[in-house]
Amino acid sequence: MRLLNKIALVTGAGNGIGEATSKRFAEEGAIVIVSDIDTAGAQRVVSEIVASGGQAEAKTQDVTDEKAWETLVNDIVATHGQLDILVNNAGIAITGNVEDTTLEQWRRTQEVNGESVFMGTRAAVSVMQQRGGSIINISSIEGIVGEPKACAYNYSKGGVRIFTKSAALHCAEQGYPVRVNSVHPGFIMTAMVEQGIASLPPEQAQAMEERLMREIPMGSMGEALDIANGCLFLASEESRYMTGSELVIDGGYTAH
Ligand code: NAP
Repeated sequence: MRLLNKIALVTGAGNGIGEATSKRFAEEGAIVIVSDIDTAGAQRVVSEIVASGGQAEAKTQDVTDEKAWETLVNDIVATHGQLDILVNNAGIAITGNVEDTTLEQWRRTQEVNGESVFMGTRAAVSVMQQRGGSIINISSIEGIVGEPKACAYNYSKGGVRIFTKSAALHCAEQGYPVRVNSVHPGFIMTAMVEQGIASLPPEQAQAMEERLMREIPMGSMGEALDIANGCLFLASEESRYMTGSELVIDGGYTAH
């Protein structure tokens, strides 16, 4: 029970990494607010948590909506008295290189992957600064290394990485007991990766899978649970001396 009675908000939690993180947190005693733009997905995750004996509630949230952030965070504090953990997980991946990416795709990527993390962190710091808390921003290995077919995604995730350090330093400087860290997943088999591969012509999809297998030193893609376990560590007191850090979970991909 590493998160007993902690109140945790996980965004984009109706699927993939957010789903696995919500379930892992609930197993460790947290009360999890499962938020997603996909209401049905969030409700399904909550039903599964409750059926396993955990505590959770579903919220519909578009993370790009500034007003909705304020409303949701205030609502959580009004209901539960506190917010202890925020995982800024919701994200999208639009593929495109520097020549074929449209400005619209670029802006949408920054809005969902970048601006949402700023707004979520700001909202959480405002309610955590007295009692303390842990904010976990899901970046990517693509916030560390470049990928020619993901220029907008690279930019957004690189931004999340360095924004996290700025927010962490601010909280430390102000004496707030709030830690802010980023997590950098490698290739994790979720709908995001499955759909990304499926959207390519068959020969390119096969070449991509072969390249990944060659380039991941541990020889396979990760599972959402691998990232959930990293988030659990950052959410718990076991990481009490970590802030502004980058937790890379990638099967060794960025080691070479
Ligand atoms: P996923 O399976 O596609 O799940 C993402 C969830 O976020 C979906 O439920 C999606 O809803 C939701 N979402 C999308 N836009 C939203 C918005 N505006 N407001 C609220 N929710 C929204 O993706 P994932 O693989 O679990 O990825 C989770 C995070 O990990 C992302 O930030 C991603 O960039 C990062 N990441 C993933 C990988 C990987 O290999 N999978 C690697 C590195 C980093 P809809 O399905 O309705 O769109």
